[in-house]
Amino acid sequence: MRQVHSFAAGQWIAPGPGARAIESAITGEVIAQAGNDALNVQDMRGFAREVGAPALQAMTFHDRARMLKALALHLREHRQILYDLSFNTGATQSDHLIDVDGGIGTMLVFASKGRREMPDGQVYLDGPPEQLGRTGQFMGQHVCTPLQGVAVHINAFNFPVWGMLEKLAPTLLAGMPAIIKPATATSYVTEACVRLMIDSGLLPEGTLQMIAGGTGDLLDHLDCQDVVTFTGSAETGAYLRNTANLRDNAVRFTTEQDSLNASVLGPDATPGSPEFDVFIAETLREMTAKAGQKCTAIRRILAPHSRVDAVIGALTQKLSQITVGDPRDAATQMGALVSNTQKNDVLAKSAHIGAEAEQVFGNPDDFAMADSPGAFVPPMLFHCADPDTAKAVHDIEAFGPVSTIMPYRDLDHAAALLNRGKGSLVASVITRDGDVARALTLASAPFHGRLYFNNRDSMAEATGHGAPLPHMVHGGPGRAGGGEEQGGVRGVLHYMQRTAIQGSPDMLSAITRTWVPGAQEVTKPAHPFTRPFADLAIGDTLHSPARTITLDDIDTFAHFTGDTFYAHMDQHAAAANPFFPGRVAHGYLLLSFAAGLFVQPDPGPVLANTGLDSLRFMKPVQAGDSIKVRLTVKAKTPRNEDYGEVRWHVTLTNQNDEAVAEYELLTMNA
Ligand code: NAP
Repeated sequence: MRQVHSFAAGQWIAPGPGARAIESAITGEVIAQAGNDALNVQDMRGFAREVGAPALQAMTFHDRARMLKALALHLREHRQILYDLSFNTGATQSDHLIDVDGGIGTMLVFASKGRREMPDGQVYLDGPPEQLGRTGQFMGQHVCTPLQGVAVHINAFNFPVWGMLEKLAPTLLAGMPAIIKPATATSYVTEACVRLMIDSGLLPEGTLQMIAGGTGDLLDHLDCQDVVTFTGSAETGAYLRNTANLRDNAVRFTTEQDSLNASVLGPDATPGSPEFDVFIAETLREMTAKAGQKCTAIRRILAPHSRVDAVIGALTQKLSQITVGDPRDAATQMGALVSNTQKNDVLAKSAHIGAEAEQVFGNPDDFAMADSPGAFVPPMLFHCADPDTAKAVHDIEAFGPVSTIMPYRDLDHAAALLNRGKGSLVASVITRDGDVARALTLASAPFHGRLYFNNRDSMAEATGHGAPLPHMVHGGPGRAGGGEEQGGVRGVLHYMQRTAIQGSPDMLSAITRTWVPGAQEVTKPAHPFTRPFADLAIGDTLHSPARTITLDDIDTFAHFTGDTFYAHMDQHAAAANPFFPGRVAHGYLLLSFAAGLFVQPDPGPVLANTGLDSLRFMKPVQAGDSIKVRLTVKAKTPRNEDYGEVRWHVTLTNQNDEAVAEYELLTMNA
């Protein structure tokens, strides 16, 4: 029998008093035990705060992103261990790809976003600076810094690896340590994954701990620097949300719950069309992948009234070809539910649905695995002819391969039915009609965390109704828990505090290590383009000489480039334009002259100009005006051992010191 250990304050702790038995989904036999009521969870919290948090917070976002990447690659190298263990949860090899590989992939995306979209520092800037005073000497900036406590992640049984990694990656990237509490039923898989991460030596001590079994009084002593995330049933979510300490101390608490997700067959998707086929294929996958134990699975299938029979016909035909069986068998397409307890729960909930909907496919007493002691059920499809008066089909989540098809009259009716889920993680619409997509978005988006549109144009690349992606937010309102996870850097910010910083430009620059207009500029004798990346400091500035613009310059540029737009060529027509006093210089001519004014032409540390951001032309320049440039190092981001990106703040001013253009220039510097 496998002993599922907790990892607490640097020690692996075996099961003890109060341990619970874990059964194999395939055989129903007890294969493991987990839990120890004597576990000192308050010590774990202290260890995370005192040892883990300082170690993580001494690192930069980029250090942490590199650590995540190394961890993900380490897990990928050893994933066979996780596959082998996961069969006993009832999952097939293709289910493992969702859980194990999906979790590793999610970690890699966060690693990449951390390097690309976050600074190589400890303060994340949320938006641009705001000028709060008349002259720019009092500014504001929103910044995010990591919370100083611990993130407690309470996870559901269905994704023992992905469920942990999708939360752990943004937590560690933010700079917070985590205590993972997997669902007991599949905790042996999570434990193996935690062991791989701990044994890799890649994580600073105290940054990852795990509780196998109950959380004891952990939640009763958390404070405003801690975070609790919960994934699981609405019932447990409601119970935990009402923990007095969490409520009284406004401890951050985010939930991802069950959800009555729906998919709509668009009115344009006729049988025989690619859209109809995609609809059937996606619904089939959502019903059978992980034996329907996916929080995003399609529970309600909405089709135009006239297409219901065609959908039932196509789906039942496909479902009849699904092989349900031992997940270790390569021919098996759908494995078992996680346990016989779960099987009983699914059958009981299906019976409620069956009381108001006709079962059109799947008999749990008559299918290939009916006599198995394992937790097998067949896919079960119901037809609810009157979804307006029905209740159970919109309220009860049978967390297994169970879906109900229902008719809709028109788009308003489809939207009303979609919203009867009272908030869900995802709804999909299979249509090629942009008006249908827009109408359903307007009528339904506030009820869903994600809307997924698919048709013949996108189907080759579409990622699937049920796949939460690290780039996009995952979570939903109401019944779905009201939480939000992932969504790129948005997901990292859940573990940080956003603070509005107000002060002089120098104060803001010192805090953020980013130059803010109005902050001190430093002019050094050597041209900044001659100084390597390491020798450039935030605020280093070059002031160029002035250059006068002539009519000849404007004519030459116009004919050379072909840009003979009337504002540059025709005095009379230009003057009639409300923006121009007469013929004006091309904006791009000014940019080109600016480069000519600030460049240092010799080979040197500047390797390439890689782009330009936030360009604004603020005041027209006419022949006879002169321009000069101020070029200031705004921010630096190392890319690798050889070079890094320098973000320059560039301002062009005229002979009256009025700003005529402003932008940020990006260079890659050795
Ligand atoms: P569950 O029974 O609600 O349990 C979820 C987690 O809460 C488990 O780790 C469980 O631990 C823990 N827990 C239960 N009571 C607790 C308490 N008093 N204090 C602290 N922790 C407690 O849900 P499940 O059966 O594992 O998962 C299935 C549900 O999760 C489905 O409804 C599904 O829709 C939902 N889900 C949602 C998402 C999403 O992202 N929205 C993802 C996956 C699953 P024990 O196992 O030790 O009891």
